[in-house]
Amino acid sequence: MNEDPDLLINDQWIVSMRGNKNTVDPQRPYGWLVEKERTISGKIEDTGIIFLTNRECPFHCLMCDLWKNTTDESVAVGSIPKQIEWALEQMPDVKHLKLYNSGSFFDSRAIPEDDYKGIASLLKDFETIIVESHPRMINKKCLNFRDMLKPELNIALGLETVHPDILRKLNKQMTVDDFRNSVSFLTKHNIRSRAFILLRPPMLSESEGIRWAERSIDFAFDAGVECCTIIPVRAGNGAMDFLMEKGDFNPPDIHSLEKILEYGIGLRAGRVFADVWDLALFSNCKKCIDQRTDRLIEMNLSQKIAAVVDCECNK
Ligand code: SF4
Ligand SMILES: [Zn+2]
Repeated sequence: MNEDPDLLINDQWIVSMRGNKNTVDPQRPYGWLVEKERTISGKIEDTGIIFLTNRECPFHCLMCDLWKNTTDESVAVGSIPKQIEWALEQMPDVKHLKLYNSGSFFDSRAIPEDDYKGIASLLKDFETIIVESHPRMINKKCLNFRDMLKPELNIALGLETVHPDILRKLNKQMTVDDFRNSVSFLTKHNIRSRAFILLRPPMLSESEGIRWAERSIDFAFDAGVECCTIIPVRAGNGAMDFLMEKGDFNPPDIHSLEKILEYGIGLRAGRVFADVWDLALFSNCKKCIDQRTDRLIEMNLSQKIAAVVDCECNK
């Protein structure tokens, strides 16, 4: 195997490091949940998330594990509306809904355009619909879908990092200019966007991870997004586990996530959220992990800096 990570990290290598996919049913979403989110108007409201089952994303980003719950081939026309209908029957009433499809909503091989109308009619009673997309898949299709929707459409885009070298190594097949252009296109057409930003991608030290997450938040707001979500990077997709073993990746520390959330909220440039899923992965201190998780949730909801957790693990 080549020792130079520059040559190592490409589609072929990333895919070769994967384990098996999970078994999924094209007639059912692979998950759904309801979580509280602070809305743009400052209210804390329940937001549903449906994790749609569909064809795997054509990109192969180094840190991504979303391929695990995807199909190899496109799902049939009608399957996505069926999945949404089924999930909405299970879910309590909510005003806001995220449709996350492990890729790009505007990838026609994932979500057939022939389904847009059927999807839109199922969503007519919501206030906000949030979908995700690779920035390079932002085009007129977004406007077509938006024009069919009664609720407001928001689009979440992966910026990941503005570190030019690391962004290239992430194999995202995107530049920061692509991101800026996509946000500008959406803003011009009155569609709000939000950014996913990674905390400590591979090949960065803890302090570099913090610094580049801060710069990425600055860039995203400057480009015109309304909201940023910070995702602490984890292993688990094969490629990342390999880099971790080699010493080229270490998961960030929960203290850094707190710092970044404080920084983002302090900018007062828009909403900033920390991803709080499975935070035990990012802490070595059993004593305060629950309090730190609560603190991050509190800051997500209040968009204010909460009291610091007092623990001997504070450096
Ligand atoms: S574009 Fe998103 S879903 Fe596709 S591989 Fe990259 S991170 Fe994963
Ligand atoms: Zn502690």
